[in-house]
Amino acid sequence: MHRINFLSQRLTNQIAAGEVVERPASVAKELLENSLDAGADRIEIDLEQGGVKLLRVKDNGSGIVKEDLSLALSRHATSKISNLEDLENIDSLGFRGEALASISSVSRLVMISKSDSDEEDNGWKVETEGQNMDAKVEPIAHARGTTVEVRDLFFNTPARKKFLKTEKTEFSRIDEIVRRIALSRFDVQFSLQHNQRSIHKLLPAKSEQEQHRRVALICGPAFVESSIHVEIERAGLRLWGWVSLPTFSRSQADLQYFYVNGRIIRDKLVTHAVKQAYRDVLFHGRHPAYVLYLELDPASIDVNVHPTKHEVRFRDSGLVHDFLFSSLNKALAEVTPQDQMQSSKGDPALHAAYCRERSEQAKTFMYQSPLSLKEHCQPIRLIDQVYLDQ
Ligand code: ADP
Ligand code: MG
Repeated sequence: MHRINFLSQRLTNQIAAGEVVERPASVAKELLENSLDAGADRIEIDLEQGGVKLLRVKDNGSGIVKEDLSLALSRHATSKISNLEDLENIDSLGFRGEALASISSVSRLVMISKSDSDEEDNGWKVETEGQNMDAKVEPIAHARGTTVEVRDLFFNTPARKKFLKTEKTEFSRIDEIVRRIALSRFDVQFSLQHNQRSIHKLLPAKSEQEQHRRVALICGPAFVESSIHVEIERAGLRLWGWVSLPTFSRSQADLQYFYVNGRIIRDKLVTHAVKQAYRDVLFHGRHPAYVLYLELDPASIDVNVHPTKHEVRFRDSGLVHDFLFSSLNKALAEVTPQDQMQSSKGDPALHAAYCRERSEQAKTFMYQSPLSLKEHCQPIRLIDQVYLDQ
């Protein structure tokens, strides 16, 4: 019989990293959520080699004071909750205090931050390598905000590294995370670069028109043109966003974004309610497309159900299901032939912008397609099929 030991801090972090850090996209998600929680309204993401060689997130948020910098890298250290009551009323994206500890245990991590409350003009830097816990704090120039640089992900856990896919696949997963997050915060500017090429530059979208534009750049202009805008409020629940007209259905459930209080989730109850609402208007085997936001009292959901927090538990799931189903069912029943007509009108400038962005992405990988880029961009519906249906 072996004797019982406490595991080292490094090993416990690496075990936790198994849950939280599956691939570069999970690192991107955690870092972006931290930037949003810090109140940033400008976030830059820089990648090299699909985020495996380098994944850097720079924000203009509140920053971290010098004394807290190495604490931020420790497990179960968070500024977001301090008691059970806070846990039941979470209004931040993070709260478990384990992302940075986990990421730093499986990469070479540098964090630089400057907070308003620091007396010095400079910022501070900590560096760790595979969770060497005695992180040194050094002064360095930095504007207000935080930069986290993650290099050589899984350099010390080769078994994990083997599970990584090609650069293209890892990049597209990060890109998908950036899209999801960009759809959750119209007020924030996002830019994404991969191997020194600019992939997205999404300006803050305040007006409804600017929001439409962001949705079009992320989901394709054809989606925005073939969808209706919904906004329904009842019994403390509010649902708003864009849902596709029955004429715009997809062969896969790949254009479905659902947010609960700003957090993207994948939830069976939600999928079922939406599917039911479309039951009579879509052919069997086709899927609706949507970007929907549900807002409700934080106390009526439990977000602490999954380590990566992509599930929530509704306290009154029947009420939520009913609300989603009846709201969408009604909105779809009210679709007029005019709405359907509108859908065929396009905005050439938007199509061109979308096309440009897509072709940049294609160039980063010298995308091997049977069609030339010119053909991709003309007609626009073709590019949608080629890129989004794959
Ligand atoms: P959590 O987000 O669950 O609190 P993390 O490990 O992701 O845990 O981060 C630990 C702490 O580090 C956060 O609670 C926050 O105080 C600080 N932090 C992390 N990233 C940033 C950032 N970009 N800006 C300001 N503070 C940050
Ligand atoms: Mg976090």
